[in-house]
Amino acid sequence: MNLAALDVIIDNNVEMLESSARENKVDETTIVGIAKYAVSNGYDKLSIAQKYHFDNCIKPLIEEVQCPGYTHECDEYQRDCTNILDDDDLVEYYQNARDYCDSCEAQASADAHSKESFFRD
Ligand SMILES: [Zn+2]
Repeated sequence: MNLAALDVIIDNNVEMLESSARENKVDETTIVGIAKYAVSNGYDKLSIAQKYHFDNCIKPLIEEVQCPGYTHECDEYQRDCTNILDDDDLVEYYQNARDYCDSCEAQASADAHSKESFFRD
């Protein structure tokens, strides 16, 4: 699991933690509190109950996160991507510095480039 990514989530995307808490019917402030505590003190310092909530609500956001999949704006269907985001990518992902895995990023920028030259001609 990636506590660096969790730190970024707390700073930039805390609503993701809150919605995960709601989905699991846990108090939002409890989950955000556990997340902050884990970032500062490490997962091992959590109590059994806190680990339980952490595993349910927080871990899915920072471990084996699947690429959302890049879909070209002209495509009718969402392209599924089965790639798991790298730990390093995950930090950038939650910093909103990247949207996809490397292979989808490459496709997205290739499409953006060809669109640009299409409109230039
Ligand atoms: Zn991908």
